[in-house]
Amino acid sequence: MASTTSSNRATFSAYLATPVMSIIGNVIASLIFIYVLDDPSPVPVFGVFTLFNVINMTLFALLPKKKKPIVRHVNMVLFTLVLVVLFGTLGRVNLQIEGLFFLTAAGVFGAATTHFLMAKIIGPILFGRNWCGWACWTVMLLDFLPWKKSAGWQDGGWKNARYIHFAFSLTAVLGLALGLNYIPHNPAQHPEEPGTVAELAWFLGGVGIYYLAGVILAARMKDNRAFCKYLCPIAVFLKAGASVTLLRIKGDKSRCDSCNTCVTECLMDIDIPSYVLKGERIKSTECIMCMQCIAACPNGALKAGVGVDVVSREKWRLRESDNHS
Ligand code: SF4
Ligand code: SF4
Ligand code: SF4
Repeated sequence: MASTTSSNRATFSAYLATPVMSIIGNVIASLIFIYVLDDPSPVPVFGVFTLFNVINMTLFALLPKKKKPIVRHVNMVLFTLVLVVLFGTLGRVNLQIEGLFFLTAAGVFGAATTHFLMAKIIGPILFGRNWCGWACWTVMLLDFLPWKKSAGWQDGGWKNARYIHFAFSLTAVLGLALGLNYIPHNPAQHPEEPGTVAELAWFLGGVGIYYLAGVILAARMKDNRAFCKYLCPIAVFLKAGASVTLLRIKGDKSRCDSCNTCVTECLMDIDIPSYVLKGERIKSTECIMCMQCIAACPNGALKAGVGVDVVSREKWRLRESDNHS
């Protein structure tokens, strides 16, 4: 059994695969935009986001455990300033999921399409749910709430709520776009104009509804990440990429003594040791690559790493009242 002195904690290199995969993802996306799509306009934005990630993920690796969540939060604030304030509000671009659905219904490739492909649909195949751990503007706010340690997953029908939310958003947008010919702003028809006031209202309304629902759910479940676990429709996309992602947390079972420290630190209540002890990577589509578990493990048994595998069965920590196993 591994000893538990602080010298056994993860070293700097245990965190490195995460910023490296962020760089690789952004370089690939930039090359595709320059050489395949013949549109280099998003490349500077990819560069800025890569810089945010690399600086803050490196600081995360270097700083003491207590200070690590601060830099992750700073990263989220920076992404929020660029995406919500600069693009969404001042630029009147609806980067919420309904913005993507409206563009798709209109047969247009716009900023929301780029954002979703990069952060939430294709990107997660390379770097998992980095978006959820390091960039999301919804949890940028929700992570300030007081319920930082949850009691575990609520079993039962709650787990279907995000699929219902996804279907509702998609159906509503398709009904408006295809049934009533309503599109808040079609950049293909008016490329020279900024987004309309209606586009802005859709964006800010969507952001506001997520914040409200997130706060209510967090208070009810006593869990800051309840919106992520049960209600966020974007997780439907993210989980698909995360089921085959190259980047995951890896464990060394010879160092793991089943102390469960990592589980109590995991924002998504993943049963980490049950993967580690089977010699598997943390093959959960709920992992947000926050790397809190790497920092928490007293035996240095965890690190971020690249590999190939597919999710088979999710292993979560359930609430005591729901845990019948
Ligand atoms: S699950 Fe949704 S709300 Fe939660 S971090 Fe991911 S995108 Fe944001
Ligand atoms: S297993 Fe949990 S703590 Fe570790 S990176 Fe994934 S979400 Fe974060
Ligand atoms: S991987 Fe988790 S359960 Fe295993 S030693 Fe590290 S903290 Fe403890």
